[in-house]
Amino acid sequence: MANLAYLQITRECNQHCRFCSNPPTQKSRPLSFFKKMIDYYAKQQYEGIIFSGGEPTLYPHLSSLISHASDKKLSSRIITNGQKTAEPNYLDELIKKGLKHICLSVYSNDPAVQSFLTDNISSLQNIKKTLSYLKKAGITVDIATVINKYNAGHLSHIVRWLTDNYPFINHFVWNNLDPLMNRASSHPDTIPRLIDFELELRHAMELLHQRGKTFRAERIPLCYMPSFAHCSTETRKIVKKEERIVYFLDSKGLVRQKKWVYGKAECCHSCTLCEICAGLYQMDKFFSSKELYPLFIDKEEVKKKIAFNNE
Ligand code: SF4
Repeated sequence: MANLAYLQITRECNQHCRFCSNPPTQKSRPLSFFKKMIDYYAKQQYEGIIFSGGEPTLYPHLSSLISHASDKKLSSRIITNGQKTAEPNYLDELIKKGLKHICLSVYSNDPAVQSFLTDNISSLQNIKKTLSYLKKAGITVDIATVINKYNAGHLSHIVRWLTDNYPFINHFVWNNLDPLMNRASSHPDTIPRLIDFELELRHAMELLHQRGKTFRAERIPLCYMPSFAHCSTETRKIVKKEERIVYFLDSKGLVRQKKWVYGKAECCHSCTLCEICAGLYQMDKFFSSKELYPLFIDKEEVKKKIAFNNE
């Protein structure tokens, strides 16, 4: 994986997701500020930039930022909800300016669930339009899915639908819902238990593996993905001693995340993967340590797979 930097360019959004981790604050910065951030990332020798939000396509100068990043020899990708990109002229403009990679947020293959979670009746329809344009555009497309109570029971169906209909998608990312400082705290119904998605996540990972796709999972303890521990984002960061740099528009500002370990329970001490597992995010606050169980897997095998599986 290339060394990528994140740049949050707007907190506005054209959806209203029940678990949004960066809800609108009206905060943004002028084009000149973000160009300087791009210059800084270029000097730090990052290979690319991920423009995020809010919804980055609502930032009026996104195409200029992509163009500036290209001038600085940085590749650009965006994390988008796929609504504005359903306008082919808009998407064309971004691609012309140098956009090479899109990470599309999809929560469900069921239109009713997708609409409920995003508060947008046209959400899935626009995502389908975006995907049909992307098929012709020939740029890299990843899918990002926030695991929550409402899609926990059909994760493999989402993956099957996407890989059947859009075989050009090769990489998938799952993020277990982050209940902190966001809308999920006003919608606690969206927070899953680990057991709610255990089986479906396993089916989804197995299906992607069978179909030759790659994937990552974040905020999921390794005991809930034992066959694919090498695909945990945090475990990979721990093993490879990597950091993540993110510019936030709120008071956090520029954050260099170097620590990848959350909560550890009593049972973790007898687990052979403890040293390379992040443990449980928000342990015994939003997620229960009673759901954890120790694994007896050779951690050197996991490390070898990480070294081998480096994309
Ligand atoms: S028991 Fe603890 S250390 Fe082991 S996989 Fe689960 S969370 Fe990680």
